[in-house]
Amino acid sequence: MGSFKDVVGHKNIIDYIRSAVQEDKVSHAYILNGEKGAGKKMLANLFATTLLCEKAGPDPCNECHSCRQAESGNHPDIIKVTHEKPNTISVDDIREQVNNTILIKPYQGPYKIYIIPQADMMSVQAQNALLKTIEEPPEYAVIMLLTENADTLLPTIASRCVMLKLRNIKDTLIKKYLMETMEVPDYKADMCTAFAQGNMGRAILLANSEYFNEIREEAVQLLKYIQEMELSEIVEAVKRITSYKLEINDYLDIIMVWYRDVLLYKATKDMDKVVFKDQIKYIKEQARKSSYEGVELILNSLEKAKTRLKANVNFELAMELLFLTIKEN
Ligand SMILES: [Zn+2]
Repeated sequence: MGSFKDVVGHKNIIDYIRSAVQEDKVSHAYILNGEKGAGKKMLANLFATTLLCEKAGPDPCNECHSCRQAESGNHPDIIKVTHEKPNTISVDDIREQVNNTILIKPYQGPYKIYIIPQADMMSVQAQNALLKTIEEPPEYAVIMLLTENADTLLPTIASRCVMLKLRNIKDTLIKKYLMETMEVPDYKADMCTAFAQGNMGRAILLANSEYFNEIREEAVQLLKYIQEMELSEIVEAVKRITSYKLEINDYLDIIMVWYRDVLLYKATKDMDKVVFKDQIKYIKEQARKSSYEGVELILNSLEKAKTRLKANVNFELAMELLFLTIKEN
């Protein structure tokens, strides 16, 4: 499980948790808000483990019975709410797993902690059911809602929770972690850090991804030659990348970094900050050919493609539209 000392970034949240635990000012309800991979689960687990640690220090001791149970995921006083349907947490989920059990006193520790991942998927009825519990929680109860977008929660819920917002982590810290702890080589650490955009989970995922180099290579090949490609070749290229459908956001991010490089180089002629240093010849060429407006159009269409894919628009269609915008600009 580790300790707060091992966490990269999130200093404001860790300071808050440590002092809340030490000064016995723990709230009954929290929202931990941050994007996927930002570290919500890790922080919630550390928070819960610290609250229940028998040594009651500012960090979990990792040695006592409670810490070991928490580490193994079998602590009877840490309840992780699950849901059966993939995209919604129903009122039954909340009733069965939270409301019906919260009045049973903790088995061993001073707290009983409920962690609700993807809490922004709670239906309105589920939220209303939870609201009753949050309004009058038993003394020992702590509820942690993990959200990517806390704005979707009812104001009545949000106003009763302490909001802990996970911020982006500095690139230097991410790179240091990748190189020192994961022993990722320098050039790859640079690449992963650039793509992660402040998200540690994403950086780790990329550093561990077998496909990352492959996807990067595929994207680079396309970007080098897309201007000269015929429509039929573009259709071919889209077909090839359907095998990366699951990693499509990585693929799109790679393209985004490429055009950010182009923009950066165009504006500053500075090679130092370019991520695709090994492709500098092509970055320069693209910077010469494309206008600022053109690159902006491409960056916007990348965002649009992401939104479309998230909304389950036809994959081939979304990608073809994107590639045509790239080709024309
Ligand atoms: Zn302990």
